[in-house]
Amino acid sequence: MDTKRKTIEILGVKIDNITADTALDKAYKLVTDNSDRTAMIFTPNPEIVMAAYNDESFKEILNSADMCTADGIGVVYASKILKNPFPERVAGFDLTCGLLEKISHSGEGVFLFGSKPGVAETAAENLKAKYKGLKISGTHHGYFKEEDEEEIIEKINNSGAKLLLVCLGAPKQEKWIYANRDKLNVKLCMGVGGAVDVFAGNVKRAPDIFIKMNLEWFYRLMKQPSRIGRFAALPKFMITVMKNKNEN
Ligand code: UDP
Repeated sequence: MDTKRKTIEILGVKIDNITADTALDKAYKLVTDNSDRTAMIFTPNPEIVMAAYNDESFKEILNSADMCTADGIGVVYASKILKNPFPERVAGFDLTCGLLEKISHSGEGVFLFGSKPGVAETAAENLKAKYKGLKISGTHHGYFKEEDEEEIIEKINNSGAKLLLVCLGAPKQEKWIYANRDKLNVKLCMGVGGAVDVFAGNVKRAPDIFIKMNLEWFYRLMKQPSRIGRFAALPKFMITVMKNKNEN
């Protein structure tokens, strides 16, 4: 664990108080690190922070990460309410893209784990075309039974990957990484939700204008109205942050 980490606590979840560039430098260091340990990066958005607020063991998992980034403009607004603002939003997806670009030059392999069968393979082809030189060490879908886990871990370890992208959705991906980190030989595990779906082209990321205007959440809601239930976590999150601030 990095003792020099500067974090801001949002409802008890420690989130790194850093810029996107510093986050990328740190992630790259963790992938190229020559220590024996497996590092963990999580990217909590308001929904994830709310889940951790209501689940102490999930909160402990997030707080044991090497880095948590402020994914989601709601987390940045919460830090402003607490009068201790993050310098900017650090979206897990952008951090992942930056890291893939970097390792496409330095040669560390990536393993894509998650989503429906076939999706990670399509994502791998697209990523190889986007980041020339990127080494895809292996892929596996995310719909497995508990008894398959050992085999999956063996596949990841035998692949020689240094970076493992786990896209099982929250909190499953964070719990899976935490439970298996000591069995994994990779240098860095990142829980990055639907990133593999976006890389495969199955889900479109919001156009830049939406991202710049902090309206990515609105674009996602328009595209997938069935997610409305999940967006209900956002006002609940804001109200809880304000209530907690007034109580402290
Ligand atoms: N998923 C999976 N295994 C499961 C449940 C979900 O691989 O048991 C995948 C799902 O197919 C999707 C991703 O996890 O690709 C979660 O996507 P979601 O949009 O929920 O991610 P988030 O909003 O957390 O980024």
